[in-house]
Amino acid sequence: MKTSKYLKTIAFCALMLAAAMPGKAQVSVEQYLEAFADAVAVFGRGQVSTYILAGLGDTPEAILSLSQTLIGLGVYPFVVPFVPISGTPLEHHPAPDSRFMSSILQPLGQMLNQAHLRSSDIKAGCGRCGACSSLSSFEQATA
Ligand code: SF4
Repeated sequence: MKTSKYLKTIAFCALMLAAAMPGKAQVSVEQYLEAFADAVAVFGRGQVSTYILAGLGDTPEAILSLSQTLIGLGVYPFVVPFVPISGTPLEHHPAPDSRFMSSILQPLGQMLNQAHLRSSDIKAGCGRCGACSSLSSFEQATA
């Protein structure tokens, strides 16, 4: 049985990524995109998702642009608001406000609908679970 391939990226803002995860920063976005394309070939369109944290320095435009590229590959961009956690290096980094998140999730919901990529069709993974983001409600709002 096929299951969703869950490839996690986090904060693709280069400076933030280099500071928080120097090892992961050595992997370029282009390399991730190649891996996503390979994963979609194996698991199918809409059965590969990636977890994108919003609120770590990337503009809504940058996140939406990357999301459009991912959707074009058949990858579900699961955009999640950053939440600071006590005791971690980013515990004092502010969480994005609701206006910032809406400026991403609303157009992203429309993009997903137009591409017929919906969380309800995902068999497993974060896009299916949906607990960390309200993205699926924006899909439904624009359905
Ligand atoms: S709670 Fe759900 S959406 Fe959040 S990390 Fe776990 S599987 Fe992913």
